Amino acid sequence: MTGESRTSALLPTFARADLSFERGEGPWLITPQGERYLDFAAGIAVNSLGHAHPHLVEALQAQASKLWHVSNLFQIPEGERLARRLVDATFADTVFFTNSGAESLECAIKMARKYHAVNGNPERYRIVTFEGAFHGRTLATIAAGGQKKYLEGFGPKVEGFDQVPFGDHEALKAAIGPETAAILIEPVQGEGGVRSVPPQCLRGLRELCDQHGLLLIFDEVQTGVGRTGKLFAHQRSGVTPDIMAVAKGIGGGFPMGACLATAEAGKGMTAGTHGTTFGGNPLAMAVGNAVLDVVLAPGFLENVERVSLLMKQRLAEIKDRHPGVIEEIRGEGLLLGIKAKVPNTDLVAALREEKLLSVGAGDNVVRFLPPLIIDDAIVTEAVSKLDRACARIEAAQAQLAKGAAE
Ligand SMILES: *Cc1c(COP(=O)(O)O)cnc(C)c1O
Repeated sequence: MTGESRTSALLPTFARADLSFERGEGPWLITPQGERYLDFAAGIAVNSLGHAHPHLVEALQAQASKLWHVSNLFQIPEGERLARRLVDATFADTVFFTNSGAESLECAIKMARKYHAVNGNPERYRIVTFEGAFHGRTLATIAAGGQKKYLEGFGPKVEGFDQVPFGDHEALKAAIGPETAAILIEPVQGEGGVRSVPPQCLRGLRELCDQHGLLLIFDEVQTGVGRTGKLFAHQRSGVTPDIMAVAKGIGGGFPMGACLATAEAGKGMTAGTHGTTFGGNPLAMAVGNAVLDVVLAPGFLENVERVSLLMKQRLAEIKDRHPGVIEEIRGEGLLLGIKAKVPNTDLVAALREEKLLSVGAGDNVVRFLPPLIIDDAIVTEAVSKLDRACARIEAAQAQLAKGAAE
């Protein structure tokens, strides 16, 4: 527990739980008092391989004793290698490394605008986005996300984003005009409540983009790097984007991100047009390569799919046992959502009481984002914790009802 008697010196932008951890082991987080929490928050889909993964620790330590940072004024062989591996595994021809998801989106947005500018159409700078989206907290990405609660009080909204309702094809078509540059979408909305875009809709978006000369941008910051059981979520649909933003799981806990693109989409981004001091530094690149070593190893993603299926089945059983608490189970791979019938904050709190960490999302959903390394025994453990958390909520409801009757 931290700072009970003194107020925090941190800017209070987060409503933090009064809980801290000293170390982690795989899917477990351990408090200074030695209490063990099952970590199905995974740093919000960041600790893709759990805590203290030996291969990642070794890669970081080996690099730390050699070289931390040189800047992008010089060649960074580890970055060349990671970019090549990402290109070989995806639609992309080129990669720009960043430090965060929002920066990956900033690169994607700038790239889309620049593409049309160098094509002689600088008036094409607008980007169509979807309600419920989350793309980060910079000025451009809050405008892209379009959520009032994140925009309020921060001055004029950055120009150039047109938001349409999720799944509204007519509104989407109507939003495309002569100034439209791109469509930006998360293949599965994470913060928005684990809402999947059906493969046929992704295909429809691709067609629409081709028809109108627009770039298709996927935000795979949360869904990428194995989270949904494919290396990238869109690979299930057979559709490829022109640009893709990645972060969160790509560093396994080391802050890093990437913007991937086709050579055509990236053609305007020539020397001097964009930059970063920290992005792609040797420490980040060493860890990024180590994450890929594990995620691309034969059988790893198949195991994510298998564990996901098991978890979904077991979660469905819990839903049936507690119909007053759980409304629906949704999601792909190990990006799973439990739509609650009680306030999702109550369910997150009850799970925490059972020492299972989860993350709230929009649409009254609780997210389970376990590390991708979990096995069947961990699924069993998590499911029984959820079962007990639901029972805890039902007991509290019964207590309330009894009180009201008296
Ligand atoms: C988390 C997230 C972002 C923002 O990433 P940061 O690293 O917090 O800047 C953008 N898009 C999606 C889909 C995310 O889940």
